[in-house]
Parts: sequence; structure tokens; C-alpha cells
Amino acid sequence: MSSNRSAWQITLIYLVVSALWILLSDSALTWLGFSIELLQRLQTVKGLVFISVTAGLIFYLTRSHLRRRRQQERELRISEQRFELALAGSEDGVWDWHLNSGQVHVSEQCRRMLGFADKGALELAGKWAELLHPDDSATARQALREHLAGTSSRFHSVHRLRHRQEGFRWYEASGRALRDPTGKPWRILGILRDVTAQKESEERLRQAAVVFDSTTEGVVITDAHNRILNVNQAFCQITGYSADEVIGVKPSLLKSGWHDDDFYQQMWQSLQQDKSWQGEVWNRRKNGEIYPQWQTINTVHDADGKLSHYVAVFADISKIKRSEQKIDFLAHNDPLTRLPNRLLLNERLENAIQRAKRQNEKVGLIFIDLDRFKAVNDSLGHSAGDDLLRAAAQRMLARSREQDTLARLGGDEFVLLVDDIQSADDLIPVAKRLLACFDKPFDIDHQSLHLTVSLGISLYPDDGNDARALLTHADTALTLAKDSGRNTYAFYTQALTLHARERIALESSLHQAISGRQLRVYYQPQVDLSSGQIIGLEALVRWQHPELGLLTPDRFLPVAVNAGLMAGIDEFVLNQACLQMQRWLDAGFALQHMAVNMSGSWLERGQVVESVKLALARNGLHARFLELELTETEAMRHSETNLQRLDDLRQLGISLAIDDFGTGYSSLMRLKRLPVNRLKIDRGFVSELPQDQNDTAIARAIIALGLSLNMALTAEGVETREQAELLADMGCQNAQGYLYSRPLPATEIEELLQQQPSCVTR
Ligand code: C2E
Ligand code: MG
Ligand code: MG
Repeated sequence: MSSNRSAWQITLIYLVVSALWILLSDSALTWLGFSIELLQRLQTVKGLVFISVTAGLIFYLTRSHLRRRRQQERELRISEQRFELALAGSEDGVWDWHLNSGQVHVSEQCRRMLGFADKGALELAGKWAELLHPDDSATARQALREHLAGTSSRFHSVHRLRHRQEGFRWYEASGRALRDPTGKPWRILGILRDVTAQKESEERLRQAAVVFDSTTEGVVITDAHNRILNVNQAFCQITGYSADEVIGVKPSLLKSGWHDDDFYQQMWQSLQQDKSWQGEVWNRRKNGEIYPQWQTINTVHDADGKLSHYVAVFADISKIKRSEQKIDFLAHNDPLTRLPNRLLLNERLENAIQRAKRQNEKVGLIFIDLDRFKAVNDSLGHSAGDDLLRAAAQRMLARSREQDTLARLGGDEFVLLVDDIQSADDLIPVAKRLLACFDKPFDIDHQSLHLTVSLGISLYPDDGNDARALLTHADTALTLAKDSGRNTYAFYTQALTLHARERIALESSLHQAISGRQLRVYYQPQVDLSSGQIIGLEALVRWQHPELGLLTPDRFLPVAVNAGLMAGIDEFVLNQACLQMQRWLDAGFALQHMAVNMSGSWLERGQVVESVKLALARNGLHARFLELELTETEAMRHSETNLQRLDDLRQLGISLAIDDFGTGYSSLMRLKRLPVNRLKIDRGFVSELPQDQNDTAIARAIIALGLSLNMALTAEGVETREQAELLADMGCQNAQGYLYSRPLPATEIEELLQQQPSCVTR
């Protein structure tokens, strides 16, 4: 505006001066003495002088004006070049937007930044709007609106623009508006900067920060003097220290004192040489707890290669350590009872042998087997079986000395290793203590279960020099204990090995015996004591062994029990006996019953009732002719399920007898509850009759008991007339024994029956 004024002023002055000249020049010349004629002649010269003076003035003014302009233009160019250079150095682009026309002038750098080579490409405001990323459009426009409205002193926006070749990139735009006197913006000028790399590195940093804070591994960053600069959240969680408590402090704050100086020296040495170190460190948490951590330390160097930081990353491995211990425990212990397993037992046994060798002592090994555990497992289920094993292990453990090892080998087999003993006799009280553990019943699944154990004992060095031999021999001794009626212990003897071998041989041929028709059924008559007539027969199994001849049950039944073959034998005998009985009935012999022995393991099998039904049906025998015998010990042992089975058998119409009565421990309650029709007085109380007063009294008591419970009575093993007479006098109705007949094959029995005419009904 000032230039306008000066132009007006100059023009005005010129007008005034030239007007004055035109108006006053003639009067001034006249006043100076010029005549009118001279003046008239000089008019042309005067005009020419005026033109020359004003032309000179115009020349002077124009020249100085043009000079000044050129000077200004030069200066502007230099300044622009400087600006461009500065911008090129900073890699920023310049844009200049004329708001009214919508024209945008952009610097070359600006164009290059967006990948546009042609000059005019970005010269319209609308073009820029097109390049804006849709997600950033709203915020960028808002920033612009605010600045144009005057709310912000500067326009600033970071947004994505579409690069011609490379897709969207990040740019930072900032500028300032030029306003007219009314404050209305008419132009906005600013710079544009490509911040993609910065954005990416920010993103990377943000990700790194997230990792730093969210990783479960503790991270510590220290300076070159090993002072903590930063720690992450996991560090705080693991150590219990807050960041404020440790920043500026040395990491040695966490030292547990578990490692010696050597350990740390090696760590520093490796950090110096290899620039990293990795290993297990035991540190102390703020609460004093010492814990293991797996730690990696790396050194960080600056651009000059000078050590600037240490970064340590560590994981708390106390849980891993615990599971390692657990794995170790599981490898050496039985998970069910938590007792040592075979592996650990072997280790301890080897150690004990070595120790005993040095100190000239003995080591005892007691092989423990739960009697008839399989039956419990089968009838009550595996979970109850497991409970029973656990309870049995607890009891035995409670009764063993601390220095001894009670191990479970698997199934129902346990072993007690008894250290530092002087003689075999020292093991007797130990064995008795073990047996006594089972005096009281176990309460499993709300049922009271009676259990016994059999123990086999071997001794170092007497019975073997190494763990294997001792275990095998203790196992061999165990079979002896089982054969001796279970619930007892037996020591290993050399003779036993022979016996064991024999048993093993017998066991393998027994399988063939059952399938290969080597079993025979013998029958022993049962007579009525008052008439002497045969009223029934007992089926007794025999084994016609191809080499050993005819074997009685005492030779092979214990083997069969151990091998789990009893049920098969019983079923075979039952079928034979039913067949034979029906034949004799068909032949017209007046027999009242056929007695068949029933082993505990057969009863425990679920199918016993079905098998009996089938045997009767197959042979057409009426149930009332069949009597099943169960020994007193078995009868008293059985659980509710087995009682139910006995009831079911009775329901079929057959009778039940308790065999070998007097040898077990009957509870009167249970006896009353059992669906039994007959008691068979054991041979043991009969053989010494009538001489033995005690036996006489017992026999009398059994007979009284049977009669009062409304049961029939049979005396077993009657060999003399006196015995028969005495028993008859005491009220016993039936008898069985050599006096009448030994067990015989069917053909011979038939002869016997035929000799007794009253036996024949037809
Ligand atoms: P048990 O059922 O008590 O059978 C009676 C046993 O006493 C028979 O022995 C018989 O020969 C014997 N005996 C009978 N009278 C006399 C006598 O006057 N004097 C002597 N000294 N002995 C006599 P055996 O046949 O050796 O059978 C022994 C045991 O084997 C049986 O005793 C029974 O418990 C069992 N047993 C036999 N066969 C079978 C069978 O098929 N199944 C089952 N589960 N057990 C059987
Ligand atoms: Mg019997
Ligand atoms: Mg008997």
C-alpha cells in the first residue's frame, strides 16, 4: 500500500510542478525580461525542454525502479534457492495452496515424495483429497478446518497419502494460513514430510514395548556399570520387587548366595569373550524365597563398539524343576500307593547288599502278596481294589521301621527290604507284624473287607548274592506260604526251588490237563448213619497225569488256585457230576443228592449261577439233586455280592453245604444269614473220636449248632464203626469216609450201589 501512496505522491508532485510550469513559466520568463515575441518563439523550445526534463526524470525513475526490482528478484531467487536447498537437505516438500482459486503449488521434492514426475499433477486441491487415506480423511480435514477457523495457530496433521507407485505411505503436513485484514484466510503455505520410516519404527518400538511388558520372562536392562535402568512387569512378578525399588540398583540385589565367586567370575568372563551368557541361576525373591531361573545375558554395544548396556532375560523355572522332581518321583515310585517301585527297590537292595557285605551283616527280603486280592478286584471293581491297595500299603508302612523299604512291585505284590539284621530270626517279628496289619478288616466302599497276606522270605547272603536271586527266592518262598494255607510266612529253602520248578512244570501241564481230558471225577458215597444206606455222593476231582499217574487234589489244586484255573476245573467236575447223577437216577438208584465242591474263585466269578443252570439243563438233572459245597473259610470271607449269588443258587432249588466246618472262623451272624442246608463236620474233629475229649466236645457242639439252625449234618472222614456210632448218638444224620468207601471212579461206585438193593428203586 505504501508503494501506491508514493506513486500517487510522485504523480501529484509531477502534476503540480508541470501545471505550475505551464501556468507560470511564461509570467516568470516575462518577469526575467523575455519579450512576448521571444516568448512566442521560444514556446517550442520550452516545450522541448519540458519534455526533455520529464523524459530525463522518467528515465531516471524507471531505471532506478527496474534496478531495484532486479535486485529484489535476485535476492528473492537467492533466498528461494537457499530455501529449496534447505528443504532438499531436510527432505521436506513445500506446498502453497491458494484457497480462493483452489490452486496448489508444490515443490519438486513434494512431488517426488508422492511419486509424481509431471509438474501439473498435484496442482489442484481436489487431487490431494483423492490421495488421502479414507481412515485418516476425517482427522486431517478436521485439523485443517480448525486452523482455518483460527482455533489452532498452526495446521498439523499426520496421515496416509497414496504414493503413486508404493501405495499408502505416512506423511506429516504442517502449515500456516495467510489472512486478509479481516482475518479471512486466503492462502495456506506449509511443508510435507514422509514419516513412513518413523511411523514404522514407532510401530516396532510399540510392539517391542508390548513384548517387553507382556512377556512372561523377566527382563532387566542395565547400563555399562551394571546399574539397572529398566525392568519389565514379569521381572516384578517373579522377583517381587517393584521397578522403583530396583532402578539404579545393581542386579546383585537378587543374589541367593547359592553360587560361589567362581560361578560369577565365569559368567563375566563369558560375557566379555562371547558377549553373552546362558545358564541356571538361583536367585532370591523379595520375600526371601530362593528359586531357580534360566537366564540369558547379552551385551549391547553402541555405534563405536563400546559396551553400553546389558540385557538379561530370565524365566522362573521353579515349576519345571518341580515337575522334574515329579517325573523323578514317578520313575521311582508307584503312583497309586506312592511307595518305591521295583526300580527304586532294586537300587536300595543293591546298596543294602553292598553295605551288608562290608559290615558282615544280613539283608532280609520279604515278598508280600495279598491273598485273593484278584477276587476283590473282580467283584468290587478296580476303584475299590485301588482303595484297598492304598489302605493295605498305609498299614504296612505304618508298621515298618523307617530304615526299611516297603515297595510295590505291581498288582498286589509288595516287598519289604529289611536292612542290617543279624540272623533270619530277626525277620520273624517283622513278618508277624506284617501279618498283624491285616487282623482288622478294611472299610472299603462302606463294606468291611477281611484280607490276609502271605509272605515269602529270603536272606542275603544265605539265599542269594544279588538282588535278582533274592527276589526270585523270596517269591518262591511265597508260594510255599500260599500252599500252607495263606495268611502265613515261609522262609526260602533250597528244597523250595525244586518244589517251585515242579510247580511250574505242573502248572503248565495243568492247562493241557483241563483241555486234554486228563481230569477224572471220583465219587465218594455219603451214607445215612441210621440205615447205613448210600444217600448221596461227593464228586472229587483227580488228575490222570501222563507221567506222574493219578494225582489227588492236594497235589494240583493249590497250583490251579495260583494259576487261576479253579473255576475251569469246578465247571468240568460239575458237568461230569450232573451227567453221572442223571445216569444213576435214570438207572433207578435212590440217591438224594450229588455233592460238588465249589471253589472261592468260581463263586467270585459272575457266571457261577448261569453255569450251574446250564449244567443242570444240559444233563436234564433236577436242581434238588445237586448240592454245592463251599468251605467254611470261603463261606465266611465272601462279600455281599457273593452272598447274593449264594441266594440265587438256592433259588434255583439246589442245596448248599458248608464243607470242612470247624476249621474256619464262623460268625454266627453270618452263618445264620447264609442260605445253607448242611454242615459238613471236618475230618479233623472226627479222626480222633472217640478218644479225644476235646474233639468229642467240638463235634457235639457243631452238631448241636447245626440242629439248632435247622441244618442237616454230615461227618467227614469216618473210618471206624465207633466213630459212626458215636456221631449217630450225638444226632449227626449222615457220614462220609473210608469206612464206607474211598472216592472211586463211577463204574466202581455203580457196583457198590448195586450191592445195596435198597438203593435201587426199580
Ligand atoms: P473235601 O471236599 O472235604 O473232600 C473230602 C476229602 O476227604 C477227599 O479228599 C476225600 O478223599 C477225603 N476223605 C474222605 N473220607 C476220608 C477218610 O475217611 N479218611 C481220610 N483220610 N480222608 C478222607 P480229596 O479227594 O483228596 O479232596 C481234597 C479236597 O480237595 C476236598 O476236600 C475239596 O476241598 C477239594 N476238592 C476235590 N475235588 C474238588 C473239586 O472238584 N473242586 C473243588 N473246588 N475242590 C475239590
Ligand atoms: Mg467237599
Ligand atoms: Mg471236607
